[in-house]
Amino acid sequence: MSQQVQGEDLAVVIGLEVHVQLETDTKIFCDCPTEPAEEPNTHTCPVCLGLPGALPVLNEAAVEAAVKVGKALHADVPEETDFHRKNYFYPDLPKGFQITQYDAPICQDGELEVSVGDQRRTVGISRAHLEEDPGSLQHVGGSIDDADYTLVDYNRAGTPLMEIVTEPDFRGPEEVRAFLAKLEEVLEYLGAFDADRDGSLRIDANISMVPESEVGDDGEIDEAALEDANRTEVKNISSHSGAEQALAYEVTRQRNSIKRGRDVQQETRHWDEGRGVTVSMRAKEAEEDYRYFREADLPPLRVSHWKEKLEIPELPDARRERFREEYGLSEEAASKLTSTKQVADFYENVAEAFDPDLAATWVADNLLGELNYRDMAITDVDDRLAEFHRLVELVADEEITAKNAREVVLRTMLDEGDDPDTVVEREGLGKTGEDEVAQAVTEAIDENPDAVDDYHAGEDGAINFLVGQVMQKTGGSADPGDVNELLRAELAQ
Ligand code: ADP
Ligand code: ZN
Ligand code: MG
Repeated sequence: MSQQVQGEDLAVVIGLEVHVQLETDTKIFCDCPTEPAEEPNTHTCPVCLGLPGALPVLNEAAVEAAVKVGKALHADVPEETDFHRKNYFYPDLPKGFQITQYDAPICQDGELEVSVGDQRRTVGISRAHLEEDPGSLQHVGGSIDDADYTLVDYNRAGTPLMEIVTEPDFRGPEEVRAFLAKLEEVLEYLGAFDADRDGSLRIDANISMVPESEVGDDGEIDEAALEDANRTEVKNISSHSGAEQALAYEVTRQRNSIKRGRDVQQETRHWDEGRGVTVSMRAKEAEEDYRYFREADLPPLRVSHWKEKLEIPELPDARRERFREEYGLSEEAASKLTSTKQVADFYENVAEAFDPDLAATWVADNLLGELNYRDMAITDVDDRLAEFHRLVELVADEEITAKNAREVVLRTMLDEGDDPDTVVEREGLGKTGEDEVAQAVTEAIDENPDAVDDYHAGEDGAINFLVGQVMQKTGGSADPGDVNELLRAELAQ
């Protein structure tokens, strides 16, 4: 394989293989639950333990999720797809092979649009296929190469995975990060994926350097140049930031290697998150090593018509655009309010009952802010929509001040689980009647002649003192802005 000319300007080329766990109740080929178990090796059965004679039965929910992903990625779902056995030995793989898809994956030729800074980029998805997750290993007393012993847990074995393979369309680590964020957002909108689940995202990143002269004006790189470039495949990446760091490390390592006149080795490397380095694992395995052959225990799958049949929700970009047009939101507010489908649903519900701007302030700024502070998510409160409506209504009808609504009522609702009326009642937050405020204003002026003199002498700070007096007399339930105006009007006479 030829290498880049020393000293020539180099372009970075990256392609990803992203493994995502699909959210289903049961595993892909048996009816063991996918939810995390308390004890190792308890969510298992003869099928996912690979016992002789056990037969796989395909989970319809996993196939549905895969077709929805295909639809969201504008991919083709071929007339017929099938499953293959990928043979290799590793203790986390009880059958000695993984059931996966090979030359007829369920999704082909898709794309995903991503914003990087203020640029839009379209990333090609060459394929996305279904497969089963292996079990998990726990190295005791050290890391993989110096542990005392290793435990194996098959609870995870058979969890449905989708492997999404991109074209080598990325030109830098920051683009990869933006893509992963977008991909997760879309998958979560589909209800097919839960980013909070441990290990739900695993990334293999392929990276090479090609001479800048091979990059066309349109950013495309010649197929032959891509083939020619020696690339490394970095494994064991499990987060967006991990991907960006691992790739930044590889960019520097490969550049330095080429600068010193050394070839980049075609190999598999391991991302060591703790040390922040990639380490050589082995020469890259070739496809022949896996002796792929048809999984005869599973019939071919014909689900292309499901693409029409299965509905998918409005996706984040479209929803963001609609929020801007329909509710007149700023780009920032629209982004925040579409960050998850649950947030967007919550906002729309409030926006339909109140002024969309008021709803945006209350959901995007107040509610999300307070939730975030408490490490809570919208899903912790979306069964309390009616209470939240009542809170916004109290503000819209000027029954309580916005400040009290936010700082007392909302916070108590979240901390104590009370409903808004209970908090208003208990804390005596109902806005004081006009007469009572007027009375308090008169009293404050009568009782504080010095402050009144100061005010007339042009000391504007004196007004704050008088506002404070009125607030005290009304137990904090008057609106400070209103009090300020009333005082000034009274003092002007
Ligand atoms: P393989 O023959 O190793 O299976 P594929 O063509 O299936 O290779 O691609 C596997 C991954 O490698 C894809 O994510 C693809 O985008 C990426 N890839 C292909 N060529 C390059 C390259 N020159 N540099 C970086 N990544 C690449
Ligand atoms: Zn099972
Ligand atoms: Mg391949």
